[in-house]
Amino acid sequence: MLRFIAPLFALCLALPAHASNDSYIARLLNKPVPGGVAVVDLGASAQAPQASYQGRPVLVVKEQDARWLAIVGVPLTIKPGSQQITAKTANGTRTLTFTVASKQYPEQRITLKNQRQVNPNPADLKRIDGELAEQISAYRSFTPGTPSNLLLDKPVSGPLSSKFGVRRFFNGEERNPHAGLDFAVPAGTPIKSPAAGKVILIGNYFFNGNTVFVDHGQGFISMFCHMSKIDVKVGQTVTRGGVVGRVGSTGRATGPHMHWNVSLNDARVDPAIFIGAFQP
Ligand code: ZN
Repeated sequence: MLRFIAPLFALCLALPAHASNDSYIARLLNKPVPGGVAVVDLGASAQAPQASYQGRPVLVVKEQDARWLAIVGVPLTIKPGSQQITAKTANGTRTLTFTVASKQYPEQRITLKNQRQVNPNPADLKRIDGELAEQISAYRSFTPGTPSNLLLDKPVSGPLSSKFGVRRFFNGEERNPHAGLDFAVPAGTPIKSPAAGKVILIGNYFFNGNTVFVDHGQGFISMFCHMSKIDVKVGQTVTRGGVVGRVGSTGRATGPHMHWNVSLNDARVDPAIFIGAFQP
């Protein structure tokens, strides 16, 4: 039997690693651009392969027909071209490639009354550094378990006001690109968890204001910020649709809106992909 499997295995190595077109998950989520998602076919095996990208563990899910798929978050900073992941099974470790296409992101100019939110003072910078470390550590959490749903529910219903990836200039100075998606909804609107999960971090941050991190499993993490009120505690389990807090304008915000980040393998990716609203 092994004699027949070995040549097949070798053949697999030579094939491009994109998931087949009839894969439901790939059709919906495979948007391999900077700030997007690459769905990589890991083949069939009894046990789930362990996949990693840039040294970080990657979300692996089972497609209906028993094939395993890696759902890889592509950081905004990645240049178009070939990227590699590794997949480890009982049979050994394989390297698989996927191709990142280019995507242009628009610019946005924002005026803030509070110049300290553009040029923080030394005490603010110290606070910001600590808060950043805390949040990065949350994004790097990797807990076992399959997410309740990969297609996410909208945390609020309302029009989108600022897209993911937009290059932002505050009072004329370029700062980090927009790492999430904004919804224009009134202050006080309940924010619902887009999938089941566990609250892994809450905080009141310089830029993000009142913030909640929900771990949906295997590094698939939602973050909500600028909230007026937080309704959950760290360690609490939230159901799909469970309320985590209320919309507000705390932190660096020009008015009430709901800002939502989605992260995979510590890469912030476009939440629009997961609600069927991605625009190439
Ligand atoms: Zn935002």
